[in-house]
Amino acid sequence: MGFLLKIILFGVAIYALWKTFARWKGLYDKFVGKPEEPARSAPPPPPQPAAPRPSADPQVSARKVVIEDTVQCAGCGAYISTGAEKCGHCGHMRG
Ligand SMILES: [Zn+2]
Repeated sequence: MGFLLKIILFGVAIYALWKTFARWKGLYDKFVGKPEEPARSAPPPPPQPAAPRPSADPQVSARKVVIEDTVQCAGCGAYISTGAEKCGHCGHMRG
């Protein structure tokens, strides 16, 4: 039964190797120090506070458009675009 004996010896050899490795690794960790500390998990970054957004909101933009990009027609009183050369309602020339 040499085959079974070889398997047993192989297992014993593996066990001895593992024990030796564990022992030396324990000594290494004891003298050198573990490369990674156990409490290595860094705290997660704090959540971003709900800071108010800068005043680039659609409301301000809409108001800006209403105030700056339209002009009241002198002929009929309709609000027309400043880019338009004449009123689209009555045809009054701007300027
Ligand atoms: Zn007009």
